[in-house]
Amino acid sequence: MLSSAESELLMTIRAVLLCASCESKTVVRTQVGHRDKQEHAFKCPNCGIDISYVLDLDQKNVSWSFREPHNAKWVESEEGAIGVRTFSDELMIPADLQDPWSPFILTFRNFRDIDVYRHDETVRNMFVEHGWARCERLMVHFENANFDLFDKEAGPPETQEAPTVVSRLEALGAYMEGAFDGFTLNTEGSYSRVAQRIALVRSGSATLFGDLAQSYLRSGKIAALWRQIRDVRGAMVRNYPALQPLLQMSYWHREHQDLSKFLLSDKRFDALRQVYIDCFETLCRLTVIVVGVETIIHHASLEIPTKKGSMTLEDFEAMPNGLKTGIIDKYPISDLFSPVIDTKLRNGIGHNSAHYEPKTDEVICYETKDATTVTRTLPYTEFCDRVLKLFAAFELAERYRLALHMEAGGALK
Ligand SMILES: [Zn+2]
Repeated sequence: MLSSAESELLMTIRAVLLCASCESKTVVRTQVGHRDKQEHAFKCPNCGIDISYVLDLDQKNVSWSFREPHNAKWVESEEGAIGVRTFSDELMIPADLQDPWSPFILTFRNFRDIDVYRHDETVRNMFVEHGWARCERLMVHFENANFDLFDKEAGPPETQEAPTVVSRLEALGAYMEGAFDGFTLNTEGSYSRVAQRIALVRSGSATLFGDLAQSYLRSGKIAALWRQIRDVRGAMVRNYPALQPLLQMSYWHREHQDLSKFLLSDKRFDALRQVYIDCFETLCRLTVIVVGVETIIHHASLEIPTKKGSMTLEDFEAMPNGLKTGIIDKYPISDLFSPVIDTKLRNGIGHNSAHYEPKTDEVICYETKDATTVTRTLPYTEFCDRVLKLFAAFELAERYRLALHMEAGGALK
């Protein structure tokens, strides 16, 4: 049986947009979600200009209204319409969706437990709306050593002991880790493996780990990473609506999780491309700490043994990212990081001509090889999946950085 909330969700609003340039009509079907406002955009199927519209929703009174669209106008008649587009800001759209079926009707049975999804989604949305701004305030106070304001913002401590710089960093780090866990597909198992590596390096070789922390502090890398991580997480929060339907798929029964059968209704390639690139670069820098921890555990040294002798962690950091996986693969945590370090995709996405192709729903990337340019395509849904997987690995790697930062006494310089 459907609850009343689900019954409301069955609603799709049907309306017709007339392109401001070529006067083609497109029928837009908007699946009503839970937000106060839904924004959707697409390219005119005839002339390719960007058309977008906003739907305002009054969830309490179950009423709605459209704003004036961008590059189009609302018209009454569907006669002569050249296409039908279905939009949802919460749900994946079945690739073979037939008008008039609604995405909700076709996907809600896919959930393992829709209440678990609803709970998690509410937590994520609260974090996007309020939690992240609080984290940003806490980070500013921490950076400025403004601990009175930090403590006021953080609220009453959990223990009786007076907070220290390290305990504040730990509390803030744990709060953010807990919140961002919800944005990843990481399993409990991956987190406990990382926690085990950190426990091992702390208990077995505290001196070397302390040396590594001091060298990161002296070189300014602790502060640089602190900023980069804040930027990547902030970008994830801002761009969450572009990925949310895909994350929802992870709450489905496994047999339904077939990326080739579902589409994201809104394509936000330009924004997500930057998220991908920044996350990739930061993850590669974080893998230096990951490898550092492993060299300490395995070789009781800050140098990585190689065929010709050894290399320092600085040498490793300076290596092209494409070669780094060769080193990471020597260690038992490689499956957590190497699979997402796809340098070819990173460079292809970073190429200035990379773009989204609406006709095929693909991302078009370019690869330069011996003065010739090779094209590579990737379905848009799969590209978004890569962004989520990369972010998941980034969150695992960030735990190493937090441990190192605590080892450095919480100092930023
Ligand atoms: Zn047009």
